[in-house]
Amino acid sequence: MTASIPAWAAPSAKAPLVPHPITRREPGPRDVQIEILFCGVCHSDIHMARNEWADSMPSVFPMVPGHEIVGRVTRVGADVSKFAVGDTAGVGCFVDSCHECEPCLRHHEQFCQKVAAFTYNGTEMDRKTPTYGGYSTQIVVTERYALKVPPGLELAAAAPLLCAGITTYSPLKHWKCSPDTRVGIVGLGGLGHVAVKLAASMGAEVTMLSTSRGKEADAKKLGAHAFELTSDPKNLKKLAGRFDLLVDTISVEHDLNLYLGLLKPEGAMVCLGVPPKPAPVAVMSLIYGNKTLAGSMIGGIAETQEMLDYCASKKIGADIEIIPIEKINEAYERMLKSDVRYRFVIDIASLKGT
Ligand code: NAP
Ligand code: ZN
Ligand code: ZN
Repeated sequence: MTASIPAWAAPSAKAPLVPHPITRREPGPRDVQIEILFCGVCHSDIHMARNEWADSMPSVFPMVPGHEIVGRVTRVGADVSKFAVGDTAGVGCFVDSCHECEPCLRHHEQFCQKVAAFTYNGTEMDRKTPTYGGYSTQIVVTERYALKVPPGLELAAAAPLLCAGITTYSPLKHWKCSPDTRVGIVGLGGLGHVAVKLAASMGAEVTMLSTSRGKEADAKKLGAHAFELTSDPKNLKKLAGRFDLLVDTISVEHDLNLYLGLLKPEGAMVCLGVPPKPAPVAVMSLIYGNKTLAGSMIGGIAETQEMLDYCASKKIGADIEIIPIEKINEAYERMLKSDVRYRFVIDIASLKGT
């Protein structure tokens, strides 16, 4: 174990985050030790810090959230070949998996049959050692689960790509987003704004579907060709049967049937947001038009690297507001009011001395 390092944790589901020093392991032969420079704030951090997914993924406290991590390699184990000291590196939503089950062999490590070692609110594959996320100054990861951050990406703006980027890139690729696709992105937050940039970069015709009128100008700057206010039922009516693909990033309960009505026959709606409560789906919303209701969860390591390289080639980063760690509880409250443009990123230097 290394000496204790600064971190911030949620002590319980109802308490604000506070300083909570942690220890990390000494790097083993295949490990890299990363000094964390920036960590994005994902809405999943809020769901988990507040135990909102208690039924499917109960929270374990104290919890150090954060899975949008970018930093600099400070030590490497004897057998490490992918990284050298001084390289930049990223860590996303998981830090290990079994390497041998079918999903792992198919590069879908996030669906490891033994359950991946998620970056926080989980355990290492020994199933004993708790994992702690990126609201901390340092992390130790097996090199295979660390990503190369290509030159050309600004580090703070690259951090959110490690979750928001791969979560939106993967379904856009899977559902063959192209110049022939009419895509609707539902919800303009952390995931939504990256989804707009990515879908536009793939040549699709992109419509932003949002509850916040004040975000219209931004949506267009991000690359959306149209903006529709979803809080106005007249707008939804007019959009019936319009989209090939809908990417739903809403974090709270909402009527899926309403959005399914906006798909063309054979269209697909991919759910990325994870509202805490189950949503009723009327089968008629699906069968009338042979529609698909799908989900998508982050992406494997190879696809995450592909996404980072793609973003570097297209100069796509997140639009961010950098905050010191002392503002984290306020940032959570602002995200709950859809008041973030469009991702908070913690400057990890602010943890030193806390
Ligand atoms: P976020 O930045 O808070 O954005 C969520 C957006 O949802 C808001 O900006 C808002 O957009 C919209 N929204 C909020 N309240 C709404 C309401 N009452 N009705 C309609 N729309 C509403 O969150 P995020 O970090 O992008 O995460 C979004 C969701 O994806 C969360 O549930 C998160 O846990 C989940 N997630 C899933 C994965 C995955 O692998 N599937 C990965 C990461 C995150 P407008 O202001 O434009 O309406
Ligand atoms: Zn996330
Ligand atoms: Zn596995």
